[in-house]
Amino acid sequence: MTRPTRARIDIAAFVDNYRHAKALAAGARAVAVVKADAYGHGAVELSRALAGEADAFGVACLEEAMELRASGVANAIVLLEGVFTPDELVDVDREHMIQVVHADHQLQWLLDSRPQRPYRVWLKLDSGMHRLGFDRDGFRRAHAELAACAHVGEIVHMTHFARADETDIAYTQQQLSAFHDATRDLEHATSVANSPATLAWPATRSGWVRPGIMLYGASPLQQRQATDAALRPVMRLESAIIAMRTLAAGDAVGYGGRFVCEQATRIGVVAIGYGDGYPRHATDGTPVMVDGIRTRIVGRVSMDMLTVDLGPVPHARVGSLVELWGPHVSANEVARYADTIAYELFTGVTRRVPRVYAAQP
Ligand SMILES: *Cc1c(COP(=O)(O)O)cnc(C)c1O
Repeated sequence: MTRPTRARIDIAAFVDNYRHAKALAAGARAVAVVKADAYGHGAVELSRALAGEADAFGVACLEEAMELRASGVANAIVLLEGVFTPDELVDVDREHMIQVVHADHQLQWLLDSRPQRPYRVWLKLDSGMHRLGFDRDGFRRAHAELAACAHVGEIVHMTHFARADETDIAYTQQQLSAFHDATRDLEHATSVANSPATLAWPATRSGWVRPGIMLYGASPLQQRQATDAALRPVMRLESAIIAMRTLAAGDAVGYGGRFVCEQATRIGVVAIGYGDGYPRHATDGTPVMVDGIRTRIVGRVSMDMLTVDLGPVPHARVGSLVELWGPHVSANEVARYADTIAYELFTGVTRRVPRVYAAQP
């Protein structure tokens, strides 16, 4: 295998970021959210590395949870959307997984089933995200039914924020007070904070926090804060220059001739494209690092290749290392140029890109 494209995964950085989340939310427990194959980083490898200290792992569905169990991860696992069909409750019971209950049909399946051991349930309030969860009255009714059910053990109250990444705190405060209003007198453990709330809203850091993107070293916050400066990027997406040419003023590069050289320009061809998950929407000027020097993408990204301006990198040659994102070019920065977010970049890295697990040099 010689194509130079790979995603290097720094396991130590991931563990450090989890510890940072725990330190911020001192006294709280932390669910390491590893859904979507750990945001594209590899859920099995990262969960194994954190198994000794993770309070729990969070996944989107039973299939993801079973993958962790099959690889020996015995920690608590939260099914963040609960079960999709009633037969899944058999596995939930056998593997002692924590299930979110967000709607009446799930509540009914749970009440109608007969598990070997009491279920662990996270009951979800819709406090303003308007996606999953009960409204205030439904929540209190569901809580009463769960509390009265002999085969329900632990109950945790949860909700999810829609706008915790923004600098305007009004909506998050409104959601938080809706949550307090619905749960105040019920005296149960709570879970409200995702990464942006864990990083920026101290009032939400209690009970169980649920950090996701911050564990991978990308900040979800619109405005940088001291609490996210400590995060270490976990993935370095890298490739290499596979061809070079010098174009004359007026020459165009790649499909559609989107970039036209204003002057004689040295162009490098890099062995990565949208077939690897590099965003096709990246505009001319998107930052990239070649042989230790930051430069830019020029021309449209194609399936297997993209082109860069080698003007600032006169020493570049075939084989020069290219960092698409990682410790020197942040995924957030690339995401801005491609009109997306780091979450989508990470989860979009395709199977063609080998993940290489090691400590970052
Ligand atoms: C994905 C998810 C999280 C983690 O969100 P981040 O923004 O990545 O921290 C937390 N809670 C729930 C319910 C989720 O689905």
